[in-house]
Formats: sequence, structure tokens, C-alpha cells
Amino acid sequence: MSNNLQGRVALVTGASSGIGEATAVALGRAGASVVVAARRVDRLAALEERLAGEGVKVLALELDVTDEAACRAAVARTVEAFGGLDVLVNNAGVMLLGDIEGADTTDWTRMVSTNLLGVMFLTHAALPHLLTSRGAVVQVSSTAARVVRAGTGVYNATKAGLNAFSESLRQEVTRRGVRVTVVEPGVVDTELREHITDPAGREAVEQRIADLRQLHPQDVANAVLYAVQQPDHVAVNELLVRPTDQT
Ligand code: NDP
Repeated sequence: MSNNLQGRVALVTGASSGIGEATAVALGRAGASVVVAARRVDRLAALEERLAGEGVKVLALELDVTDEAACRAAVARTVEAFGGLDVLVNNAGVMLLGDIEGADTTDWTRMVSTNLLGVMFLTHAALPHLLTSRGAVVQVSSTAARVVRAGTGVYNATKAGLNAFSESLRQEVTRRGVRVTVVEPGVVDTELREHITDPAGREAVEQRIADLRQLHPQDVANAVLYAVQQPDHVAVNELLVRPTDQT
């Protein structure tokens, strides 16, 4: 029998837009209580109101995942509000593309702190609770973990690093019932590219995707839902989901 999310508790980072928002909505509609976390509290408040209006138990939390103490506090607040933690979705991320030569290295610090260290901090804080609940960790990685290009090196490094961390985590905890899933989306129609600071980096990605039908955030949310709804003895470790048009 598949895993019923009714009464389960999920914490979704980067829930203020895109994939995280769609995933929080999907988990909530499937019966989970959801904690939606990000920095833009106005967006979170609107999502909280929308989900509460649908009868979902929801809590909005301001969180910068680069702040280790804030990550610990977010997990503690989740457990305090809903009595435990069953599903952690590490989705918050930034993609600040550009060449390595001459790069603004503060972009690198932001990517490593958010995409890699943020995931590590939250996973570390959540693990005792996930071991108690025999829960699940879902990491929103990327095709960038598998396909490397000139002009995307540091983003590639963060997502490849995320996959490595996740596989090590999987081996450490799977026999104790915690399932680890890495979801690797291809191009998704979200705000992600709008934050690229290097005009050439932004132009290059816009050109690369100009003629393809992109995934919708809901398509990735469906993959997350598929993974966490499997029966306890089934661990979906990796899901690569690309637009049909993406080579
Ligand atoms: P969005 O820009 O729409 O969402 C990114 C989310 O991350 C936002 O909610 C943002 O919220 C949050 N975030 C960024 N920095 C922080 C931080 N320091 N602390 C907390 N939250 C933060 O893009 P997507 O939905 O596309 O991105 C979600 C994930 O999907 C990322 O990890 C991305 O790498 C991955 N991905 C996306 C693909 C795409 O083509 N769009 C393809 C493959 C993977 P706020 O600013 O409010 O803090």
C-alpha cells in the first residue's frame, strides 16, 4: 500500500515561488501539514492564506538557509507546531551562471552557501526527527549535477556536490528507514534565471532554452509526490525529469 501523507508533516524550503511553492501545495493537498519556508515572507503569507483556505494545516516561516542557527530554529519550530517531521524537501537554491574567468566570486559564495551548505545544515538539524519518524529527505538537485557546460561551473559543482552528499546520507540512514531522494529537473519555467547577475551568463541560458517547451513547477512537484508516496519498503533514490524538447 502506498504511503498516505495524511497527518504527516513536511518542511519545504524555497516555498515562496516556483518548484517549492508547487511542491508545498501538492503535499498539502495530499494531506500533509506543511511548513513553508523562505526569505520573502509576503509571498509565504499569501501561500499560507491560500492553503489554509483549502483546509491544509500550514505554517509560514521566514528562513535564510545560509544561516545555520536559523535552520535549526526552523526545524524546532516545525516540530513544536506539528509534533514531528516526516518529509524534508531541500528545494531552496540559486543559479548564478557565468564564466569562471573574471566571475564575481560573491555569486559563488551565495550558490555554495545556499545550494550546498544550506541543505547540509537543514539535513543535520532534521535528521534526529526523521530517524524517529522513519521519514524522507527530498533534495531538489538538477540535470546540472550530471551534465556540465562551460559557463555553469560553480552551479554544476553545487548540484554535483549535493548529489554526492545525498548518496552518502542515503547509505548512512537507509537501513534505519529514512529514504533519500534526489530529484533532478531539467529546465523549469520559474524565476530562477531572473537572479543571474552576469548579463552574458543570462543571455547564454536564455538562448539555450529559447525554443524548448519548459517543465512547469507542478511537473517537478509530481515527481516529489511520487517519491514520498511509495510504500515504506520502496526508496526512489533518483528522478531525472527533463522537458521532452531538452537534449
Ligand atoms: P525560484 O527562483 O522560483 O525558487 C527558488 C526558491 O529558493 C525561492 O523560493 C527562494 O525564496 C528560495 N531561496 C533562495 N535563496 C534562499 C535562501 N538563502 N534561504 C531560503 N530560501 C532561499 O526557482 P526554482 O523553483 O526553479 O528553484 C528551486 C530549486 O530547483 C533550486 O534548488 C534550483 O536549483 C532547482 N532547479 C531549478 C531548475 C529550473 O530550471 N528552474 C532546474 C533544475 C533545478 P526567497 O527568495 O523568498 O528566499
